[in-house]
Amino acid sequence: MALRKFRSVTLGAAALAAALVLPHAGFARPAAKPAPAPAPAIQPAANAPKLIVAISIDQFSADLFAQYRSHFTGGLARLASGAVFPAGFQSHAATETCPGHSTILTGVHPARTGIIANTWIDQSVARGKKQVYCAEDETKAAADPKDYVASVGHLLVPTLGERVKALWPTSRNVAVSGKDRAALMMGGHVIDSVYWWKGAGFTSLDGRTLTPAAVNENKALADVLAQGAPELPLPDWCAGKARAIPLGGSFSVGTGRFALAPGDKNAFRASPRIDRATIDLATELVDENKLGKAATPDVLSVSLSATDYVGHGFGTEGSEMCIQLQQLDLALGDFFIALDQRGIDYAVVLTADHGGFDMPERLGEQALPASHRVSKSLLPEALSAAVAAKTGLDAKDLVLSDGASGDLWLRRDLAPADKARVLEALKAELLANPEVAAAFTADEIAASPAPTGSPETWPLIARAKASFYAPRSGDLVLMLKRGVVPIPAPGPGYVATHGSPWDYDRRVPILFWRKGMTGFEQPSPVETVDIAPTLAALIGLPVAAGAFDGRCLDLDAGTGDTCGAKP
Ligand SMILES: [Zn+2]
Repeated sequence: MALRKFRSVTLGAAALAAALVLPHAGFARPAAKPAPAPAPAIQPAANAPKLIVAISIDQFSADLFAQYRSHFTGGLARLASGAVFPAGFQSHAATETCPGHSTILTGVHPARTGIIANTWIDQSVARGKKQVYCAEDETKAAADPKDYVASVGHLLVPTLGERVKALWPTSRNVAVSGKDRAALMMGGHVIDSVYWWKGAGFTSLDGRTLTPAAVNENKALADVLAQGAPELPLPDWCAGKARAIPLGGSFSVGTGRFALAPGDKNAFRASPRIDRATIDLATELVDENKLGKAATPDVLSVSLSATDYVGHGFGTEGSEMCIQLQQLDLALGDFFIALDQRGIDYAVVLTADHGGFDMPERLGEQALPASHRVSKSLLPEALSAAVAAKTGLDAKDLVLSDGASGDLWLRRDLAPADKARVLEALKAELLANPEVAAAFTADEIAASPAPTGSPETWPLIARAKASFYAPRSGDLVLMLKRGVVPIPAPGPGYVATHGSPWDYDRRVPILFWRKGMTGFEQPSPVETVDIAPTLAALIGLPVAAGAFDGRCLDLDAGTGDTCGAKP
């Protein structure tokens, strides 16, 4: 149930140790035995876990994992005793929530998931700003015109949970998150139960009735919201971080403690409490769907959004992120204990949809004076005016985008000759700007070779190609220089962000854990598209050659190979 478990104490070390040493085969597979005859249907691997728990922590960068790792005592400490890949990569340039979540359980880059960004411009849609949200059905009218109809229709490929269900129809595919796009991109199109936070409670796809698990959770949350809640404790090891950073007027961040005023839904959402609520609902969905109890494996996706809201609202280096990560660690610890208590044989993977970067005002004080906020000269109105002046064309909607970086679209009614002139003028305008690192046209990206090799050495155009899908991508992709934050002016709730092709936004931890396994650390870069092939091999799910961009990671620390028996 919701939110009653907030506390500052750490998990009992003895209980955790006991949980970790219980005899179990771990990830190792038994040696193959000669099969007497072909089985009538494909069976799961002999030692397959009964439940895959795929967790995404929104904006949990490899930098945050490294910074806080030694302080974790709960769920993150448990996972850090498993197979640890501290240099995982969301390899693509468009390091946003929707593209990032789309890679985790599909095993392919956004170029193949089709999820090129959180929003893109589609000039054929009949609406003012021509923006399409990655997880909406823009052909359907929402009840509220400011709203949208949530949908996974833009995702072009199946998720692991869908593949599992297609082969083993009794398997269940369940997803829950603080964000609709996260739950939908991890869950996919064929999903037994899917929930996300909206307004003041959890909701689901149009036409679905809330099940008792969600109804009960929402009731518990309504009580918490009505009553409010006190500040959360500041861990001793974060005392030095609690320092106010003024951001103009009376607005400052850096010392927040998440006191919850009664009825403050937005403060609830941007706090550790939303993660605790998501985990509580996940636990209830395990029971409601009897996950981990059938002969074939189930998939439960859990995306925890608070780290992202905290990062955007307060940056990554104040008291707020410190409290957030401690509370998250404790909530995950309780989640795993709850799964243990149910006797479920589960395997966990934990990663993030993208990394993150602190706000320039604090970075400037902390040895990174080159970081600054982007100027307004790169916003679409300014670029339209500049290019119109060079070409003599009408400036209105000449260049479209949803910010000061990423994809840019040209007005679609331009004659081919004019389009070529505008593109040339726009590229020259961008490259003359000292804040710009690179600008690639769609043709240049399409013609560039597919990325190969280790993702940290990919050139910028390869990063762009990994999140380029011609039917949706812009006419040009703009990349800011390292350290240039694409928020021209900070405001409450939005002081720092991600989305760049730089490694602070691309690098995320990837952790695998299963009871009884022997842990190991592999510091060489791997990718989030490696997760789906790794899990598919672990459960014995056959997948056609070429279906994944990633590779199977062998989770056996010794001579065994969890990829070796891949059908
Ligand atoms: Zn974000």
